[in-house]
Amino acid sequence: MDIHNTDNAATRRIEALRQRLQTLKDNDVYFYNQPVEEILEGAKVRVNGRVMGMYASYSYLGLVNHPRINEAAKKAVDKFGTGTNGVRTLAGTLTLHNELEETIANFKHTEAAITYSSGYVTNLTVISTLMGRGDYVFSDKINHASIVDGCVMSGAEFRRFRHNDMEHLEGLLKNAPAGVAKLVVADSVFSMDGDIIDLPKTIELCKKYNAWLMIDEAHSIGVLGKTGRGIEEHFGIYEGIDIKMGTLSKTIPSVGGYVAGNKDLISYLRHGSRAYIFSAALPPAQAAAANESFKVILDEPWRIERLNQNTRLFIDGLKGMGFDTLLTVTAIVPVLCGSDERAFELTKYCQENDVFVLPVVSPAVQEGMARLRATVTAAHEPSEIERAMDVIYEAGKRMGMVK
Ligand SMILES: *Cc1c(COP(=O)(O)O)cnc(C)c1O
Repeated sequence: MDIHNTDNAATRRIEALRQRLQTLKDNDVYFYNQPVEEILEGAKVRVNGRVMGMYASYSYLGLVNHPRINEAAKKAVDKFGTGTNGVRTLAGTLTLHNELEETIANFKHTEAAITYSSGYVTNLTVISTLMGRGDYVFSDKINHASIVDGCVMSGAEFRRFRHNDMEHLEGLLKNAPAGVAKLVVADSVFSMDGDIIDLPKTIELCKKYNAWLMIDEAHSIGVLGKTGRGIEEHFGIYEGIDIKMGTLSKTIPSVGGYVAGNKDLISYLRHGSRAYIFSAALPPAQAAAANESFKVILDEPWRIERLNQNTRLFIDGLKGMGFDTLLTVTAIVPVLCGSDERAFELTKYCQENDVFVLPVVSPAVQEGMARLRATVTAAHEPSEIERAMDVIYEAGKRMGMVK
């Protein structure tokens, strides 16, 4: 018998998903994986031949296509080509990689840094290298999937605390045996809700219970703090985060992930983490682009100011219209819809009116908490944001979400 037609649990899962997708497509509410044909000035994109305002971008400072960054990438290709000679440990390390890691360490005020080929892989490999059987990891309930996967992969005792609930975290820390290795891990800015981890209290608890603290800055590098250095700058607290993780694929318009920390930790990861030892180095163009991006952030602080203004405008505007934007205070702005169907319907109206937003539904968020997940960037014109909000308002009114 043809193995592809075998009836078993795995093939039934594939069939169930196929049916769900087909229903979405039949109802014209499948919005994922749409090919962007062109990236245009002012946070606009061309999709299916139509120019749309981009409200689903992680390029918070609008650095995608920045001339200086593009130039750095081109120069790197001219000098080093498009690939490396393999893994970093053997022949793959280029001077570019070392420069990038030095730049990151300086940016995050740490002794050293290490880079990996994606943010996802960084969380997987770092958590599972540092933690193992018998150790304890404590993770916020709405942490990014890559953190969850890293915790599971580590084989450590895995405890999840209610979102940003410090009392719950303390209770869990208290219950862990004394003397075991403990790691608390959280997003700095939560990727679906846009709120910020209570860093002062988290640090206090980590000190009290002798736990390491790892913070994932995917959505706070270039976003939080006056100069974009991230969560420490936001709170004015410069001690207490042991493992400073981030991605090179959001504000930094490249690809890859990093960890910054003290030199013994970084050396341990460089010689012990499997994603470093058994996976190829970042391509030269991407390493050079990332390196240049950190410099552009420091050279063009107006971008951060502009992002903050746009964020205020967007959140206050939507709230004023009567939408529930949860607890966001950053450029990630959820517009709560409730059911998946409502989120799809709202998205459909927006996209038909040239506002490119996307719905987030279960299992990415809890059932009944489906939403639009809209983002603003430094590249948006305030007048464009006003127009986008008018479109969202009109849709919300038609659906009876707002008056
Ligand atoms: C996007 C994201 C990642 C993964 O980063 P990639 O570089 O896209 O692999 C990790 N953590 C958080 C919180 C993210 O939002």
